[in-house]
Amino acid sequence: MMQQYCQMKEQYPDAILLYRLGDFYEMFFDDAVTASSFLDLTLTGRDCGLEERAPMCGVPYHAVDNYIKRLIDGGFKVAICEQLNTPAEAKGQLDRDVIRVISAGTLVEDNLLDEKQNNYLSSVYAADGGFGLAWADISTGEFNLYEYKGANFDMVLEDLLVTVNPAQIISNAQAKTLSLPLIAAGKLPKLETYFDWAYLYDNAEKCLLKQLKVGTLASFECEDKRLAISAAGALTEYLLSTQKRSLGHIMKLNFVKDNTFMLLDSNTRRNLELTEVMRDRKRRGSLLWLLDKTATNMGARKLKTWIEQPLLDADLINNRLSGVEELYNNTALRDDLTLELKSVRDLERLSARLAYGNTNPRDLLSIAETLSVLPRIKKLVKPCKAKIIKYQGENIYENTELCKLVGAAISETAPATLKDGKFIRAGFDKTLDEYRSAGKEGKNWLMNIEASEKEATGIKNLKVGYNKVFGYYIEVSKSQVDMVPLRYQRKQTLVGGERYITEELKEIEDKIVGAEENALKLELEIFDKLCAALREHIAEFLATASALSTLDCLLSFATVAVNNKYCKPLINEKVKHISIVNGRHPIVEALSDGTFVPNDTLLDGADNRSMVITGPNMAGKSTYMRQVALITLMTHIGSFVPADSAEISLTDRIFTRVGASDDISLGQSTFMVEMVEVATILNNATEKSLLILDEIGRGTSTLDGLSIAWAVMESISREIKAKTLFATHFHELCELEGILEGVKNYQILIKEIAGTVVFLHKIVRGGASKSFGIEVAQLAGVPKPVVERAKTIMKQLEAIDINRDTNSIMLSSKVKKAQQMSLFADEKAENNEVIKILNDLNIETCSPMQAFAILMDLKEKAGK
Ligand code: ATP
Repeated sequence: MMQQYCQMKEQYPDAILLYRLGDFYEMFFDDAVTASSFLDLTLTGRDCGLEERAPMCGVPYHAVDNYIKRLIDGGFKVAICEQLNTPAEAKGQLDRDVIRVISAGTLVEDNLLDEKQNNYLSSVYAADGGFGLAWADISTGEFNLYEYKGANFDMVLEDLLVTVNPAQIISNAQAKTLSLPLIAAGKLPKLETYFDWAYLYDNAEKCLLKQLKVGTLASFECEDKRLAISAAGALTEYLLSTQKRSLGHIMKLNFVKDNTFMLLDSNTRRNLELTEVMRDRKRRGSLLWLLDKTATNMGARKLKTWIEQPLLDADLINNRLSGVEELYNNTALRDDLTLELKSVRDLERLSARLAYGNTNPRDLLSIAETLSVLPRIKKLVKPCKAKIIKYQGENIYENTELCKLVGAAISETAPATLKDGKFIRAGFDKTLDEYRSAGKEGKNWLMNIEASEKEATGIKNLKVGYNKVFGYYIEVSKSQVDMVPLRYQRKQTLVGGERYITEELKEIEDKIVGAEENALKLELEIFDKLCAALREHIAEFLATASALSTLDCLLSFATVAVNNKYCKPLINEKVKHISIVNGRHPIVEALSDGTFVPNDTLLDGADNRSMVITGPNMAGKSTYMRQVALITLMTHIGSFVPADSAEISLTDRIFTRVGASDDISLGQSTFMVEMVEVATILNNATEKSLLILDEIGRGTSTLDGLSIAWAVMESISREIKAKTLFATHFHELCELEGILEGVKNYQILIKEIAGTVVFLHKIVRGGASKSFGIEVAQLAGVPKPVVERAKTIMKQLEAIDINRDTNSIMLSSKVKKAQQMSLFADEKAENNEVIKILNDLNIETCSPMQAFAILMDLKEKAGK
């Protein structure tokens, strides 16, 4: 047995091998040591023919799911080694084999999966100058592939991986040489190198063709995408070799074309709190939480994908928007559809389990329940005008026959497991009914036989009896043996008579003796046949599931739009501006008690391209900027938006740089994180991008920060020309209006009443000159002496701080100038030099920032 174990383990060195021994799954050697400490199991030992006993630990078979879950969550892989025959069948050693390797990316069990999100396995094929990426969810049958060639492809790969958020990533060896900082920092799963032969194009293509049962990949629009095919073929190979069964529900490839969806980098996802909030990483408070009013789990999963992958095609966006609009305008349809969708089960995962071969009777009931709702849903959406709704209606495949068949076959009270039987309805199969009633009615049958045989033979004292050795028999006393018909076969001779058996009695004996065993076997056979019949329709089930989940998402958007008074945004190729009237932040509004103050936005490609937003702390700058980003994003996913009206230009990317946070896991300080984010934006943003820049340059000294902020704004305004919202406490940046084309100043209003501030949250044109930081500190409960001392210090600083007062520096006052300039540089000599230069230029009055800019300009021109 230990030899068998070792042979098996040799094939799965990277997995914990659970070796079935009777009612337990046992682990040995290193696996046992690791698992016993991780799962808190008692470590024992077992003789193994070596000098030392083999370390061993085990878990009961009926509780194994829970242990598997913990191991998978802990990042382990688990190979399940089963007994393939029973001790009664085996001669000596039982046959065993690994029936499946379970890893984070290959889960199918409901209790191991999150029902509201996909569970992807990704495969990366890195080549020179590009990569192929495939990602599949075997719990739903979804299979996507993509390829990219070009500069910085590792950055694109990482952004994509962040979007897909796979549970597990396999790759070819070359992928290990890529620079993928998020993987290195553990923010994405590590790359597991898989066999390079599986990534070879010919092998990969062959594997895909076989899986999809096609002769060419042309119908999936990817036949010439060699990198993508390599990645997808290796992924398929991995699935087949670890799952060890055919995966009939993977029947379609979805080739993701360039510009299908908006790439959102990890900062932007986090900053905009798309699926979880930054503070506690919970769903509540995220955009997903707000928009997800879906009735089905399939809908919830699709909605999450929609949010994570905003569309870039105006037609596709408008398609969704018009679907939402129709549902928005039709309350009765919304109510009816919601009601019907509530009875729809997770047809996608049910189909996957059916194909995978681990379905149970309740699953079949769920499929039937779903099928029974389909005609009503089809009828409801039939009169709809919106193309997208009509299309879904046409892709819902009714099947009343199957529905009836399952309903007739599976008992309403069926258990969720197969092992104890009792799931096939009485009356569905005559033989099964007989098996079942054999136990109960056996006595009646015997009495009936006794009576009918008495009558047929005329033997009055004929008796039906039973003994353990001979089973059932008909006993006839010696005196009447002559009357026994030929069909009676003699079984046993007694002193006073003979015992016989007949064909009929034999049949009944079989039925009674093996009734339970036979009943279970037959139930399983019937179940298998039913599954086979259902499996024929998996493609229809999956298409129906997709149609239902799309309807569910549209309905969810419509419901949220009605409840929160959202409007339909205008988006098309011609709209080049972002113009929002009375926009609101969807989450802050939802969590507030109706006191949210709406604000307008105008960002165009011309005079109003960048907004420099100043205003006190707590005024609402971040909220305002995020609200513009969220309204833009919501438009691109096809949702209505929180505003009275909104016109949104097609946006290729949204970038955010918000707040201060360090990332020790990435080996980066707070300021380094800030600059990495700034660099990403400057290197990737285009004219069609929307940039949200909150507090650039705050993580370093005032002058460094101000200079960086200034230069970044110049670059965005002059070269990139992206629409930009720029919030800052560097009030000097207000001077950019007038200097840089398209830059406009805005401030968020507050009111000062009796030494304290009241936040009005209203954005207006113009720059602010004060941050009211000390007042906010007071509001926050900073002790009074500290607040008072801060006020005193500020007064002293104001006397010399040219940064606070941008009005003027009178060049005639040398002493004051020197004092003021000391904020720019430590060297007095340099201050004097600045003053001299300004004098030489005949400049009598200028603001410190202007002085600074002039100096920089001169320095640049002088090449130093
Ligand atoms: P700081 O400069 O200190 O970072 P800020 O100007 O970015 O502050 P926010 O964080 O956006 O301020 O907003 C502070 C709080 O004000 C928010 O948590 C929110 O509760 C409230 N708030 C912001 N905007 C509005 C609004 N338009 N209507 C009502 N409340 C708002």
